[in-house]
Amino acid sequence: MAEGRKMSLTIKVLYGLVLGLITGIIINTFLAGNAFIDSWVVNGLFHMIGAMFISALKMLVVPLVTFSLICGVCGIGDIAALGRIGTKSFALYILTTAIAISTAILLATIVGPGKSFQMEGIEISEVAAKDAPPVTQVFIDIIPSNPVSALANGEMLSIIFYAIMVGVSILLVGRKAKPIVEGAEMLNEVMMKMVTLVMSVAHVGVFCLIAKTFAQQGIGLLMPMASYFLTVLGSLVVHLFITLLALLFIFTRLSPITFMKKMRNAQAFAFSTASSSATIPVTLRSVAERLGVNNSVASFTVPLGATINMDGTAIMQGVATVFIANVYGIELGIAGYLTVIGMSVLASIGTAGVPGVGLIMLAMVLNQVGLPLEGIGIIMGVDRLLDMCRTAVNITGDAMVSTVVAKGEGKLDINVYNDPEAGMLDEDDIHIDETVEAELAKAVEETHKA
Ligand code: ASP
Repeated sequence: MAEGRKMSLTIKVLYGLVLGLITGIIINTFLAGNAFIDSWVVNGLFHMIGAMFISALKMLVVPLVTFSLICGVCGIGDIAALGRIGTKSFALYILTTAIAISTAILLATIVGPGKSFQMEGIEISEVAAKDAPPVTQVFIDIIPSNPVSALANGEMLSIIFYAIMVGVSILLVGRKAKPIVEGAEMLNEVMMKMVTLVMSVAHVGVFCLIAKTFAQQGIGLLMPMASYFLTVLGSLVVHLFITLLALLFIFTRLSPITFMKKMRNAQAFAFSTASSSATIPVTLRSVAERLGVNNSVASFTVPLGATINMDGTAIMQGVATVFIANVYGIELGIAGYLTVIGMSVLASIGTAGVPGVGLIMLAMVLNQVGLPLEGIGIIMGVDRLLDMCRTAVNITGDAMVSTVVAKGEGKLDINVYNDPEAGMLDEDDIHIDETVEAELAKAVEETHKA
């Protein structure tokens, strides 16, 4: 197959993103207030297609995570190895989040965003900072009292816990449970195919999501908040390009450039949807098929990471805390900052991978160090754009940890990692294989005869 065609779907997603950005900014700058554009294009067409695309992604998450996790646990084959993979990934997730927030606080203290901030200039919106759930509840909720309701409501940690329990029980039953493993493997393959199908129209979805966001937000909004915005962005860049890539290299000796190239697609999805959870299918696909992480590790680390590992979110919370303290002229001191680090790590575990939750969890951090919750109202306006950026960092952290754990367990296919073509979105993937087609036709014919 010609390389140009093979590249096309991945490149199309990036085109969709850039075109969406340009379209959104043009609408915001030149057509703001135009009733037709506003209600038919931005809140009509763009909103509808964008929302349909996000629903299509979300539709994949629960079945994909469930089946791939059951297959993954069965694929690991022994419970000690499962425990090791679990412990390693959890430790790395906590470590990267702690480094992320420390970097953010350090940079924010150096830059000092909000020091010369004019409180009167900004309208403080009514802060509806919902109460963040207490940390203890986060742990209690991991065990689903009703697994069907956990699946129906997409409660990720409970689903992960339940799927692991099913996988472990299958392992313990042994040979007799083999048909279930084969069934789960087949269903997993079907779900992966569905990911490919949804991704084949991703460029349109991405275009609409980005165009709508930028048409509504514009970039002018950023000006009064530029110092806060740029400090968060700077910390995200440092974490993404220095911390994560350095850790990847230190632990695996693999090329960080290859890693970044292969994550481009998933990052574009995370940026467009601002949801780690909705991006799980794409992250899982990139990690397993492009980076060469065996499904037994990827199926475990990716959904877990999308649920508990939020480096980008922790960064926002670190900078936001320093910013709010500066705006209100409150001194936090070393003890205060250490509390912020601890609380942000916990908040990151409790933050669901959906848009905007990081801001709600910020309430928990502010509460702990006695900063006014009204501060959240000040940064709310620019949060959507930052949410997009931090979500891209969040899922990159998940993929990095997944790669490190897989390498350590001997579950990484180096040939796949180094092959630039591996797992490329292939337009042929969405056509029925000729042999499958022939087999299906034969089966239908036989059914008719019968
Ligand atoms: N949108 C982020 C995510 O899904 C969470 C947040 O920071 O609000 O990863």
